[in-house]
Amino acid sequence: MRTPSERELLALWESGLTRHPIDRALLLCAWARPDVPGNELAHLPLGAVNEALLRLRRALFGPRLQAQVACERCGEALEIGLSVDELLPASQGTSPPPVLQLEGFEFRLPDSADLASAAGMVDARAAAEQLLERCCLPRSPETVLSDEVRARIEAWLEASDPLADLRLQLSCEACGHVWTAALDPASWLWDEVQRSARHLLAQVHALARAYGWTEPQVLALTPQRRSIYLDMVQA
Ligand SMILES: [Zn+2]
Repeated sequence: MRTPSERELLALWESGLTRHPIDRALLLCAWARPDVPGNELAHLPLGAVNEALLRLRRALFGPRLQAQVACERCGEALEIGLSVDELLPASQGTSPPPVLQLEGFEFRLPDSADLASAAGMVDARAAAEQLLERCCLPRSPETVLSDEVRARIEAWLEASDPLADLRLQLSCEACGHVWTAALDPASWLWDEVQRSARHLLAQVHALARAYGWTEPQVLALTPQRRSIYLDMVQA
């Protein structure tokens, strides 16, 4: 795990601005998994990417996740809070991803490259088919998998890569509605990186204006000193 400094966080934010969310997740993942060569990041199982992003989140902003979600039935704003530690396994998984042998086929876990191949598809079922086809060897488009085989693959995916698809059970106190919401660590972390970058730039702006300091000079100050100068500027 390499934790970006404030200056590196600004550079990270800037280079992620124009990227597709899948590439952005890999950009963040590269920080959390310096042990994985850049060209192999897209072939990490999706759960390994999510795990890396949750660990980076904890290193950058602490373990506590807090967010507001609107009830999908009545629109009431719900405060949700949880700890990254509740979602993470005790140790980082670095063993080779498992494969499933079934009915003469071999299935592997989906990765970011598979996700990217289906990213432009509007039909969710067609996208799921595309993922399945890419993760199955050998397979031709004529191969038809029975419902039973599909169910076994799905159960295997859930058990082998539980962090690939994170879900939270939510309930609304106002109307009693209970539902499951997807938790996407990449977009969650990216929002926080954005907020943090904007906050840093606002600090640079205030101190540059007051004292004529440059961006590197402001960022070279410890957060404690910067905060005292900001208090004096704003007093
Ligand atoms: Zn509600």
